[in-house]
Amino acid sequence: MRDGCEVTAGAGVRLLAASDIRGIARQIGLRPAKRLGQNFVVEQGTVRRIAALAAPRPGDVILEVGPGLGSLTLALLESIADVDARLIAVEIDPVLAAELPRTLAARAPALAGRVDVLAADALEVAGLPWPPTVLAANLPYNVAVPVLLHLLAVLPSLARGVVMVQAEVADRMCAGPGSRVYGAPSAKLAWFAAARPAGTVPRSVFWPVPNVDSRLVCLARHSPPATSASRAEVFAVIDAAFGQRRKTLRAALAGWAGSAAEAERLLRAAGIDPGARGEALGVAEFACIARKRGASR
Ligand code: SAM
Repeated sequence: MRDGCEVTAGAGVRLLAASDIRGIARQIGLRPAKRLGQNFVVEQGTVRRIAALAAPRPGDVILEVGPGLGSLTLALLESIADVDARLIAVEIDPVLAAELPRTLAARAPALAGRVDVLAADALEVAGLPWPPTVLAANLPYNVAVPVLLHLLAVLPSLARGVVMVQAEVADRMCAGPGSRVYGAPSAKLAWFAAARPAGTVPRSVFWPVPNVDSRLVCLARHSPPATSASRAEVFAVIDAAFGQRRKTLRAALAGWAGSAAEAERLLRAAGIDPGARGEALGVAEFACIARKRGASR
């Protein structure tokens, strides 16, 4: 799509072109904040691609984190024009949150009533006006994983999602045990959901242009491993195991267990080689270690 070319789509939705985004930013005196990961998508093909991956169905409530100036919000509205679905947008920047309803009313007048815009930190969201079923977001890169883990923990209705994140973070989210990039975020995310790569996005689609590449990741919630250990107990084992990379589990879990000998005992009870490294274990095995400790108390 050419810069400045206005696109009118289904139900009269006018997506934002690069010139519109710069125009709104100028009007509200916005200087994009790195601290808040404010890199806005200025290319309609990308936001339509994300909306298509979100694949809204009747009854869905889409949660968008960080709607910014509304690029993706409008594409999501376009995608629900003929579907009985609604949208909740949570934006931490109060100036952007105040401007968004005006943008939506001007560019998607028939659909703007289906959006709730909340000025809030996604890391502090506890409940929402409607239980969201789908997450669709170009996530602020510096807090992408904490936001994801928090939302999956506090919003059990979230069944699936599509997120755009920094390429390296996407790789980590999708990695399994044994992969070079598998780590605590991979294992914790696997507690909640299966993550699969859904394509690469060039840095040229953003304004301002970031100095990292991006990727899309699709998420599908699944049941956590069957265990009597709590999520917090399992995540404590994961943190300990990855806190000291390249150490054997016997050494890495010594602090968590109280001693290396106790770590070895618990690992053997869980059927895990104490000489293995955390990178080799899946979330079910971490859950098993946590359960052995609970059982021996
Ligand atoms: N969705 C827009 C787009 O694609 O053009 C903007 C995406 S931009 C990468 C990230 C957005 O998240 C910004 O608007 C930023 O202000 C917002 N944000 C940053 N931290 C946040 C948080 N903790 N909770 C909610 N929004 C946040």
